[in-house]
Amino acid sequence: MSGLFGVISTNNCISSLYYGTDYHTHLGTEYGGIAFIEKNGQPVKKIHDIKNSQFKSKFYEGSDKIKSHLGIGVISDRDPQPLTFESKFGAFAICCAGLVANKEHLAKELIEKGVTFSEIDRGDINTTELVAHLINEGKSITYGIERMYEKIIGSISLLLLTKNGIYCARDRNGVTPLAIGQKTGETAVASETCAFPNLGFTVKKYVAPGEIVFLSKKGLEGKKKGRPGSKICAFLWVYTGFPASTYEGINVEKVRENCGMFLAKRDTVQADLVSGIPDSGVAHAIGYAMESKMPYRRVLIKYTPGYGRSYTPLSQELRDRIALMKLIANDAIAQGNKVVLCEDSIVRGTQLKNFTVMKLMQAGAKEVHVRPACPPLMFPCVYNLSTRTIQELVARRAICALEGKDVEDVSEYLNPTSEKYHRMVEWIRKDLGVTSLQYQLLDDMVEAIGLPKERLCLYCWIGKGVQKNLQSYQETRPKEILTCE
Ligand code: SF4
Repeated sequence: MSGLFGVISTNNCISSLYYGTDYHTHLGTEYGGIAFIEKNGQPVKKIHDIKNSQFKSKFYEGSDKIKSHLGIGVISDRDPQPLTFESKFGAFAICCAGLVANKEHLAKELIEKGVTFSEIDRGDINTTELVAHLINEGKSITYGIERMYEKIIGSISLLLLTKNGIYCARDRNGVTPLAIGQKTGETAVASETCAFPNLGFTVKKYVAPGEIVFLSKKGLEGKKKGRPGSKICAFLWVYTGFPASTYEGINVEKVRENCGMFLAKRDTVQADLVSGIPDSGVAHAIGYAMESKMPYRRVLIKYTPGYGRSYTPLSQELRDRIALMKLIANDAIAQGNKVVLCEDSIVRGTQLKNFTVMKLMQAGAKEVHVRPACPPLMFPCVYNLSTRTIQELVARRAICALEGKDVEDVSEYLNPTSEKYHRMVEWIRKDLGVTSLQYQLLDDMVEAIGLPKERLCLYCWIGKGVQKNLQSYQETRPKEILTCE
């Protein structure tokens, strides 16, 4: 989904910028970049490809020689960024998190007006460049951001750096988070609040959906009030977010513990221990253990040295090999035991089936009871925050196999009291080769988060609830055809 960080300091901000950006490494795998303002008031950008190495290793060298009072950084899941521009507002740098679904259409309109795009990659427009050009059409930066929000279909949160400060804008539906932190002499903005404590910042405020705040030497200046409500991504708490982060005042680790507790409350299985698939399954398992009073023990341990999460090899074969190597089953714990295994979610199920369950069985586990912390994933993310296709989703493959064809109306499969739902879960259980499988209920997951349902994006599970223009846009797109096995 990409992670943003920005900072303004009365002294040199580079150390905060460097580490603050690095604390977003779990949100993107393609590019890491920073931009800062030099003495002459001009923004300078540095972007590195981080597919095969971490942000730290690319930026550490030489960072001690940079001096600046203000800068922005991004860990990007798609485009190279931040980008720098000379404009009628003066020079600026910008980075974004999110998706513009009508990108081609908007780019075509701008090109017809004479705007030039320079960051094209094999015909693909860079979203950050498009957003910058749309902002440039406004009579001020604030007005330009608002105008851009009116034109795009999708969700964009951004940081825009000028020589005087940083504009922080959260997308109108609040799908992605932004928070502002402060300490003496420095103010920072981050997608993930886990970037704050070690750098000495405490959370000052959560930026509201549609709100625009300007960080400058004078402090925080509200440029545009936020809107009530939001549709923040529920998957942030279940899987994508870092455990020490907090969105809308609600901490990720605590939500995961709540998810585990709800799973345990509805469970009747008798097992010897509870374990979680590292990393994000661990807190779900701790919550399960707290509620069930079964001991939490680690049957699977992740070998972290050398396997950073941002290391994404290009070939599927190598990705599979790394998935196989990273998790080590501990037979001293697994041997002869019935294991409840908590996981954040099941997407394809292939790694769970081919590596995790197989390893536990080989390590001598007597039974493996899988408990995902969210309901079956039925629809690919429309905001591109967690990219998947229908073809990849094991629940859709199950439906295909049970119906003998792809079905558009899956509503009965969403209802956990229906026979179809139970047949689908049983198909997945057999496919995974586990002793039992019980998914979280949607209402329990929502209660575990603690926000009203209407304030969450739940599209992955229910296939509706996104803003009307995005829903209608999706309906005009060619439908993905699922090939039934
Ligand atoms: S569709 Fe899913 S992953 Fe995407 S924003 Fe909504 S809940 Fe999050």
